[in-house]
Amino acid sequence: MVNPMIIDVHTHLNNYDESVTVPLEKRLEQLQESIRYNKVDHAMVLTSYTVNAHRPSTREVVEVTDGLDNIHVVAGVSVVNYKERDLRELADFLKDRRVVALKLYPGYEPFYPYDPRCKVLYDLAVEFDVPVMFHTGDTYNPKGRIRFSHPINIDDVAVDNPDLRIVICHIGNPWIRDCMEVVYKNKRCSADISGLVLGDFKSHFKRFMLQQVKEMILYAGEPEYLLYGTDWPICRMRTYLKFVDDLKLPAETREKIMWKNAVRIFKLKIPGAESIRASRP
Ligand SMILES: [Zn+2]
Repeated sequence: MVNPMIIDVHTHLNNYDESVTVPLEKRLEQLQESIRYNKVDHAMVLTSYTVNAHRPSTREVVEVTDGLDNIHVVAGVSVVNYKERDLRELADFLKDRRVVALKLYPGYEPFYPYDPRCKVLYDLAVEFDVPVMFHTGDTYNPKGRIRFSHPINIDDVAVDNPDLRIVICHIGNPWIRDCMEVVYKNKRCSADISGLVLGDFKSHFKRFMLQQVKEMILYAGEPEYLLYGTDWPICRMRTYLKFVDDLKLPAETREKIMWKNAVRIFKLKIPGAESIRASRP
């Protein structure tokens, strides 16, 4: 038996206010502060599809978080730009469990998730038994193209790659019903609730979102497919924890969403949590 935990499966060490440059170490410190303050036990850090002064590379994030038991790295991959050497580096990180999942950014980059260029990445994820996370839904940047980020596109990936574990980020917002159907139909598909709002919820919008997430749980049954994530620093941890409180879930359901599903889906090695099982793979 292990005490209830909180695992945030979706955070970033990117610097979103590009008018100032904040060193990576400082951003990691801010993440750790936020985690401590909000009593979060583990966080996944997702790297970007692009690397610049505000967006650290996967290698930089792997190195700066080396030895931290509570931080797990998810490697962002540029589907339109990856090179042979990127795949080799990725394979090394996956082999050593220094990377626990991949993240692709359809919408921010112009490709459909079923694009043949993705196949080698899906094969890599299956080989190393890690999930692939997909940005879906609205793009934070108006230059994004949302036809690529519609969650319905994920169905083709799930059907063609039956062994691949998939995480649909942001529950496809605003196409939450489409996301519901994709996770309901494809048993290796799950979804995270991150990034549903920037900053704090306005009360009417929060009521709307609470309703949407409740409907999703109602539709797709016992939520072994739903993951807690925030999109920190874009969304605030405190706001998100309050959001989950306001869902008023039964204790067992809440525990699945807050951490048990994450342990299972990301195969996290957490002492005491080895025995978590579910009806889903
Ligand atoms: Zn994100």
